Amino acid sequence: MSPATGHELIAIPGPSPVPARVLNAAHRASPDIYAEPLAQLNLQVMAQLKRLAGTAQNLAPYIGNGHAGWEAAAANMFDRGDLALVVTCGHFGRSWADTLEAMGVYVERLDFGNLPPDAARLAERLERDPQHRIRAVLLCQTDTASTTTADIPALRAAMGDHPALLVVDAIASLGCAPMRMDEWGVDVLISASQKGMMCLPGTAFVWFSDRAAARGRTGLTTPYWDWHQRAGAEALWRFWGGTPPVQQIYALSEALTMILDEEGLEAAWRRHARLAQAVWAAVDAWGAGHPDIRLSVDQPEARAASVTAVTLPRADALRAWVTRECGVTLGIGLGAADPQAALRIAHMGHCNAAMVLGALGALEAGLTALAMPHGAGALEAAAARIARAD
Ligand SMILES: *Cc1c(COP(=O)(O)O)cnc(C)c1O
Repeated sequence: MSPATGHELIAIPGPSPVPARVLNAAHRASPDIYAEPLAQLNLQVMAQLKRLAGTAQNLAPYIGNGHAGWEAAAANMFDRGDLALVVTCGHFGRSWADTLEAMGVYVERLDFGNLPPDAARLAERLERDPQHRIRAVLLCQTDTASTTTADIPALRAAMGDHPALLVVDAIASLGCAPMRMDEWGVDVLISASQKGMMCLPGTAFVWFSDRAAARGRTGLTTPYWDWHQRAGAEALWRFWGGTPPVQQIYALSEALTMILDEEGLEAAWRRHARLAQAVWAAVDAWGAGHPDIRLSVDQPEARAASVTAVTLPRADALRAWVTRECGVTLGIGLGAADPQAALRIAHMGHCNAAMVLGALGALEAGLTALAMPHGAGALEAAAARIARAD
């Protein structure tokens, strides 16, 4: 069946679908970058981004993707040879640790496999650091590969009085799941525009606390990455270290207005939770009596609001079928024990119940077409969760 007539459905964990309004907002001829209207719009976007993160502190924007955000933050926090403790629960955290190491940071890994980070183990490690050699504790709020989600307030509490900075990668979670940077005591927060922000790829953001700023410039800080220069900017070009991403600023303004001022941030969090729970209900139904089909993350409280990893035999064949026959593109089984037997369903950003039910319906059809044994009632279970307004 040709999927070419009708909408394709992209359910991969980034880049996520971009609303037509956001695309249209970017469709602008280049304005005068020295004139007041764009400077004002940029300030408005910076203020919106701080609301999104739950902070009144500092923000440095960058042209780049999430990987650029990682390096930007590191270039301001560390000297060569500083010790960083990276708490990992999936492929992205491990890859972040490798990046830091390549930059000359001394990295210690507290690796939980694909399981949620354990606050007690973090506390225990920090207690064994009476001289405070560990400068920062770094972790992903949601590791997009395992889809495991860390309990940030619990991990912050586990740090006790240790002065290490808490650094959180919220690239796959910001806008989808609660983030209260200041209230939770997060020192450095990293995100990018193309996931929960439902904007175009190409911009990364690093929010940082006054405590993190107090470190001043380090041996790794170069002019382009220097967050002080950007956060304290007066001229528009200084925010961006050169030519601003003009069309992206229009797009960001539109997307952030939709999230913050039209839907409301807390409503967006609730929408993501409801969509996620509909996906979990469907997978649980497929897996009833078929234990080889299951949610990759066991504990409901450690599952992501934005993307769900599913362990399932012949997942690769199923993914290919739903793309070819239904026009649904799902995420690959990145970082799974057997990547061919895992897939990820994204429900992040510009996503509603019809899209999630559509993806689940395509999967149900694929399981049947490929004669993959599965439990009944998945779509009813998902619809029942959507039907509940909470
Ligand atoms: C997507 C993602 C990244 C990488 O971002 P890019 O924009 O692809 O460079 C890093 N961390 C997490 C948690 C992500 O989801």
